[in-house]
Amino acid sequence: MKHPIRRPLAVSNLVTSALALFLALGASSTASRAELVVVSTGPVAGLVQLPADRPVSAAQGFWNPNQDDPCVTPEQHAEIAAYLAANVADLKARGLLPEAPDKAAGVLLQWPVQAAPGLDDPGVHGISNYVDENLAYPNQLRDYNCGTRTYDNASAYNHAGTDIFSWPFSWYRMDHDQVQIVAAAPGVIIGKYDGNYDRRCSGSGLLWNAVYVQHADGSVAWYGHLKKLSLTAKNVGDPVAVGEFLGIMGSSGNSSGPHLHLEIYDNAGHLVDPWMGACNTMNPDGWWAAQRPYYDSAINALRTHSIAPVFPACPNTESINENRYFAPGALAFFSTYYRDQRQGQLSTYEILRPNGTVWQQWTGSLGVPHYAASWWYWSWYLPVDAETGTWTFRVSYEGQTVTRTFGVGVVADAPPPAADDVTVLHVAEPNPFNPSTTIRFHLGAAGPAKLSVHDLQGRRVATLCDGELPAGEQSVVWNGRGVDGALMGSGVYLVHLRSGGRELVQRVVLLK
Ligand SMILES: [Zn+2]
Repeated sequence: MKHPIRRPLAVSNLVTSALALFLALGASSTASRAELVVVSTGPVAGLVQLPADRPVSAAQGFWNPNQDDPCVTPEQHAEIAAYLAANVADLKARGLLPEAPDKAAGVLLQWPVQAAPGLDDPGVHGISNYVDENLAYPNQLRDYNCGTRTYDNASAYNHAGTDIFSWPFSWYRMDHDQVQIVAAAPGVIIGKYDGNYDRRCSGSGLLWNAVYVQHADGSVAWYGHLKKLSLTAKNVGDPVAVGEFLGIMGSSGNSSGPHLHLEIYDNAGHLVDPWMGACNTMNPDGWWAAQRPYYDSAINALRTHSIAPVFPACPNTESINENRYFAPGALAFFSTYYRDQRQGQLSTYEILRPNGTVWQQWTGSLGVPHYAASWWYWSWYLPVDAETGTWTFRVSYEGQTVTRTFGVGVVADAPPPAADDVTVLHVAEPNPFNPSTTIRFHLGAAGPAKLSVHDLQGRRVATLCDGELPAGEQSVVWNGRGVDGALMGSGVYLVHLRSGGRELVQRVVLLK
């Protein structure tokens, strides 16, 4: 196990000699075990064109897949398979699953990870590992594209799923329920585990929180590592629609950081690699409705900060230190967060004044082959006579242009409110509460909506509203009473809002 590292780091001779940058690398390294990611350090930057003015500081960091521990141990795999087989038999007996699946039904998978409503970043994920097609081991790696973005280990484990991680601020986003796992295809829930610890930093040997969905053709998807107590209120036997909320991305089970392990089996119980490519020898066709590129290079997010963001050792939540308003003369940090950044890809960074003219412009590129996730920042003191108003940080990369505005001198540009067509469950007030709390939500569209309260065992204790509602702001008070009118005991309760095919969940605490 390595420990967090903080040290000045030269990005390149060009930069150090020309600009004498102090590169405090705000990264840390974490797990030496398990499958996912560590923040690490290395001299990797290449500036193509220098900024107009010398920045105060600059830094760069990256996450790299860490590959040595099974997502699901063979023992866990056997336990899960037996559990699912028993459930399927029971569901068939109860008429909740057909006796024989329609093997010709065919399944196309939609992307199973999405931002929660209100998070408007262009991306929230990266991929750390694909299925290992080479069943020899150890270090006999071959992904569907004939690359090595997968892992195995000496005890015969070959990675059997696709690992999709959250980036950036994965712990913060887990804490705030910002990255959702949704059903990749419609089906019936045939298994569900919850209640397991969700801040793992290494292989735990303990089970994950997961939802298992059987599709019409009899194939099954495993959605693993979910956040504790975040799972859909639906139960085994209930149908789910494609895109329906299943849970929040977490780090339960054998995991070194928040990510989804998606594992697929066909109707004969054979492992499926859903990715179509020259080295997929498991199945002749891809299963994605629209397959993403092997290197899916993109900007996930831009941020402006008052001080540099901090990525502490796993499993501590990041300090984002975001700031959207600066006084003239203030120090401001400009960060770009990438997935699948590759060597030589050019980024153009610009800081624009309110009138659209360029205050700073520079370009940069990566000096090593590839990072699954990376981030860069530069900082400046804004001019003491800076024009007041709305400034823009703009980055162009691989045909994508992303902007993030910030105010200087005046609070001129509040962060945009949630778009009117997005459904949002606001923070309950007060929380914790006694004897009552007000739950506000915004419906993006008119239609059926259900707001219910559940205990930690998933039992519904109250239905606060259930019916057709207009679009817009709604407000409901929960008086802490159950369906029979009795006061509920102290404890944590989960408020579920279901509307428009989405389910939002929030914790409230009743304190007596
Ligand atoms: Zn995995």
